[in-house]
Amino acid sequence: MLLYVYRRYIATFGILLTFFLYAMLLTGRGMTQPRFVLDQADGNVKQASGLSLRKVSDFLAGRKYAVLTFDDGPYGYGVDEQIMATLRKHHARAMFFLVCSHINDANQDVLGKLEGAGHLIGNHSYDHLKLDTVSSKPVLEHQIDGCSQRLAELTGRRPYYFRPPYGATSPLVAQMAQSAGMKQMLWNANSEDSWMTQPEQILHWSLEQTEDQSILLLHEKPATAAALDELLTQLEQRGFQFVLPDQLSGNNSAIN
Ligand SMILES: [Zn+2]
Repeated sequence: MLLYVYRRYIATFGILLTFFLYAMLLTGRGMTQPRFVLDQADGNVKQASGLSLRKVSDFLAGRKYAVLTFDDGPYGYGVDEQIMATLRKHHARAMFFLVCSHINDANQDVLGKLEGAGHLIGNHSYDHLKLDTVSSKPVLEHQIDGCSQRLAELTGRRPYYFRPPYGATSPLVAQMAQSAGMKQMLWNANSEDSWMTQPEQILHWSLEQTEDQSILLLHEKPATAAALDELLTQLEQRGFQFVLPDQLSGNNSAIN
């Protein structure tokens, strides 16, 4: 009789424990946050660790990750702040590929705000030239290294990621970005906001193209800022979290 009662206790305990472990797996609680690195071979952002409980948890919970990137800023006129406020609302951090010639006395404070909010500042060249057809090394040096220097003067640190304007790169451009201490980052999901003018269109294409571990191309402009809240809401409903790739120089194996 006593054994029977014990068995029931053990069975109940086992069921509860199973539920508890399953719930822990679903929430991912207590597990180390995944790290992401930019894979230089294929240009994708990937989880740094191999097979882990975290990945099992992500799979079971339908959790996905995306890197949000905003090009061509600072925009000024409050647009940068509007984007930052929406990101804050969604607890999202993002990358901002700035064009150095877009920085002026009126919008310079945007850089400190971006860094203060935990966003990552990247280099998007000095003048937004199409660099793949430029063969002059001094011109490329000014466009790539010159912008990093300018950003370092303003923020105290050189950027770790470089995005060539229009995604137009060449072996020379990639090599000069590397010798300036940067990894080149393109994108694999496009909001199409470089030419779409309506927030609904930008929302449509962003949702259409964003998959797990996507790098989504967005721009700092009013229509994108207007679409962002709804975009992040819908991506979150699909299980997305917004992450940044590692910025540790020790991880920068492509340079060495
Ligand atoms: Zn651009």
